[in-house]
Amino acid sequence: MEMKNIVVIGPPGAGKGTQSERISERLGVPHISTGDMLREHRDLKTEHGKAREYMERGDLVPDKIMYRILDHRLKKDDTEKGFVLDGFPRDISQAKHLECIEKIDIVISLEVEKKNILKRLTGRRICENCGETFHLNYKPPEKEGVCTKCGSDLLQREDDKKEVIKQRLKKYREKKLPIKNFYEKKGVLRKVDGNKDIESVWNEISVILEEFIK
Ligand SMILES: [Zn+2]
Repeated sequence: MEMKNIVVIGPPGAGKGTQSERISERLGVPHISTGDMLREHRDLKTEHGKAREYMERGDLVPDKIMYRILDHRLKKDDTEKGFVLDGFPRDISQAKHLECIEKIDIVISLEVEKKNILKRLTGRRICENCGETFHLNYKPPEKEGVCTKCGSDLLQREDDKKEVIKQRLKKYREKKLPIKNFYEKKGVLRKVDGNKDIESVWNEISVILEEFIK
């Protein structure tokens, strides 16, 4: 059987995780999220644990460490038929590194307008006590500012504040353009309208996958 190596890119709040999970189920290949991998490795006493120090400082994990963790993951048996990679590459040098170790068949780029990303991310609220998550637009609590589950106060995480998100988006755009050009030249880039709801986005991705599987 042919390999299916897929990369999903998109700004924070684009729904990369959700859509990657569906692609993974549809194709029967593992969903590899570099964010999840780093979180898993945080408690390990291996060399991967080095990533922890960077994450705790809020810094990006250096490429050298990132590559070791990723290369190791992509060598596991479950990637025999392919994989869905989410959260990597973050910049052009990572894209080139990936190209050296794996042939990428499709890159799905979730395109979301800035105003929609801001709406999605700044609306998030989390319960300081039980950790339940809410969203002012999509999953509002019964009473404003109060957790429906346990009655404690709801907080907005520092990461979800408007200015922080604007900064992240700016950085994202600067780094993603060269990546998109890189994959466009290779003929593997597929742009998907990520402004719509989860189901509509998934329908668009399904069409791309069906053509590819044929
Ligand atoms: Zn609560």
